[in-house]
Amino acid sequence: MSVTFKQLRKDFPILSQSIDGNRLIYCDNAATTHKPQSVIDAVVECYTRYNSNIYRGIHTFAEKATQRYEDAREKVAHFINAHPQEIIFTSGTTDGINFVAQAWAKRHIGVGDNIVITELEHHANLLPWQRVAQETGATLRFIPVLPDGTLDVSHLDTIITESTKLVSVVHVSNAVGTHNDIGLIIKKARVVGARVLIDAAQSIAHQKIDVKKLDGDFLVFSGHKIMAPTGVGVLFIKKELHNDVEPYRVGGGMVQNAIMYDATWLNAPHKFEAGTPPIAQVIGLGAAIDYIKNNINFDDLCTYEASLCSQLIDGLSLIDRVKILGPIEELKKRGHLVSFLVEPYHSHDVAAFLNLRGIAVRAGHHCAQPFAAKLGYDASVRVSFFFYNTPEEVDFIIKAIQELVDLID
Ligand code: PMP
Repeated sequence: MSVTFKQLRKDFPILSQSIDGNRLIYCDNAATTHKPQSVIDAVVECYTRYNSNIYRGIHTFAEKATQRYEDAREKVAHFINAHPQEIIFTSGTTDGINFVAQAWAKRHIGVGDNIVITELEHHANLLPWQRVAQETGATLRFIPVLPDGTLDVSHLDTIITESTKLVSVVHVSNAVGTHNDIGLIIKKARVVGARVLIDAAQSIAHQKIDVKKLDGDFLVFSGHKIMAPTGVGVLFIKKELHNDVEPYRVGGGMVQNAIMYDATWLNAPHKFEAGTPPIAQVIGLGAAIDYIKNNINFDDLCTYEASLCSQLIDGLSLIDRVKILGPIEELKKRGHLVSFLVEPYHSHDVAAFLNLRGIAVRAGHHCAQPFAAKLGYDASVRVSFFFYNTPEEVDFIIKAIQELVDLID
């Protein structure tokens, strides 16, 4: 790469902000990422130069907005190695999983069947399946986690069985950063003919995603985790399933022909996008993907983020009272986040203390409450990186945690 990650910081206007006189150190990237100027400009340009609803209008702005919207679909498709027809714009990961639950699972899963997820899931990939199980009479099964936050795959054959209809699994955990061996899980699912959904919310911005290599049937992510605006997400549905998935919502924009008592649908992706979509946000997502393409090499990014994780883990390991969660050695090799406890403080207090120094981190169960309960904590502190974070920032965080611990020792 011709420019270093540090040089890219200048593209993010928010990073020059201060919090109560302290320079912002933003390490809450697993919750949401910041937007480069080019993404902000793309959204502003949409609203200031050609704002219009798409498809319906035969006028210059409508055509331009439609073109930009469909360009973004092509960019997303190319980015994850899919066909544009396989790209459905949603409002985010949560919306995408609920979409599959309602529009596919409820029609293909019933009494006697089971749905397999893991004990590591974000609530977005737990609650929709609890609901499908309750409403259809199917059973929910879990691939268990080990104390280090990795999956115990030693009994997969008894969990994924002939009656498994869907395996829905998080690619990278937002709670402790585990990279799941989804290749192995998908292989088992294929043997029994189960469909597979991949929650790529935490992997999409940090590693190359290739839907053909992964070989899932559905894949979901949120735009805001990859520098795009909030309010837009992507649901990939493999083409061969398009006839098995009903529209999640029905209404304008997806109809081929409507009569008083019935209607027929357009082909995918329009069949799945009823109503006015988040046009400016989708265009912003297209700009975010352009930004990645122009500036980021995923191998370099992975090495860089892992080096920040290593530095943080090594520094925190020297501080008594800090307990690091998750698969430490793996995080040092390919992580982008580190979760930990600082005993005896509650994690919310640790985050509040860091905030006094301008450091933005997240504390809580990270919407993975059953997982936290299983590992025996109610809330952890999570420091999550992106390419615009620096080793100097990591030093600052370690120093702040040491100061906090020194207050009691
Ligand atoms: N799954 C994972 C792994 C996540 O990290 C998140 C966001 N924290 C979600 C699902 C839900 O994403 P969203 O709130 O954008 O729908």
